[in-house]
Amino acid sequence: MAKKIAISVPKGGVGKTTTAVNLAAGFAVAEKKTLLIDFDPAGACSLSLGFNEDTIHGDIFQVFSFVKFIDGVIHKTELPNLDFIPCIVNSFDLEERIHKLSRNIYLFSNVLEQETLTEYEYIIIDCPPYMRGLTTIALAAADSVIIPVRAGKFSVSALKKMFTQIEWVKANINSDLKIEGILLNMYEANTRAWELTVKALSKHFKEYMLKTVIPKSISVSEAEFYGRPSMLFKVKSKGSLAYLDLTEELLARHSKPNIYRLPGEGLSNMGG
Ligand code: ATP
Ligand code: MG
Repeated sequence: MAKKIAISVPKGGVGKTTTAVNLAAGFAVAEKKTLLIDFDPAGACSLSLGFNEDTIHGDIFQVFSFVKFIDGVIHKTELPNLDFIPCIVNSFDLEERIHKLSRNIYLFSNVLEQETLTEYEYIIIDCPPYMRGLTTIALAAADSVIIPVRAGKFSVSALKKMFTQIEWVKANINSDLKIEGILLNMYEANTRAWELTVKALSKHFKEYMLKTVIPKSISVSEAEFYGRPSMLFKVKSKGSLAYLDLTEELLARHSKPNIYRLPGEGLSNMGG
């Protein structure tokens, strides 16, 4: 049975898609059969993996609307262990329809239970930057969630919203949902903004911080333009290495399934 990890936080531009793509690639490089699902109507995962309208032959919403079976929308990528399901929403009508469909809270969970998906060890779900609708049904289907943050005054309020949503989902839909951790992204050592952000986050969420921190790395953002995960673009860049560290941190944790949220751990590789 695949471990399903949602990448979510109600804030735009913090690195949800970047983390989804690079973590999925990291698991694939570690020889774990992985499926990345783009669950954001913005469709950014497709671009990050080099897909375009000509190479996409189906998406997750066609499965929700019974237009295609799940097998028909799985795309192979250049990594043999990484498969991908895109999200193509190119009209307002379609977006409205999707939001209506997502009122069925178990829609996505039911899709993920299909036999075809039993071959995967990891399923990574890239969520949109808002909480209702698609994010709720992603959290209803997920085993755990990674919450990326970047420096900024509003990080704490976005995290508080996220934790409230997680509590609601746990109380009402998916009591087994776990918090994989908060991931500091685009980290820059010795900057006042990060110093203040880490101080504020540590006050409220210290026990949830992942040990790995993703530094700000030009090659991570450049890789997008080449339609490749960072580790296939420049494997030795500090961003690629950090995503490999994150993969390793999670693999180690999942090999001991009872270890979650170790109080007192975290922030150990903040040197950049
Ligand atoms: P949205 O909410 O709009 O979906 P997002 O949270 O998915 O945004 P991304 O699209 O992953 O955010 O990242 C936003 C921008 O920041 C992108 O241009 C990406 O290349 C850049 N970025 C993300 N992580 C890093 C990093 N570690 N170093 C440098 N640039 C990064
Ligand atoms: Mg995104």
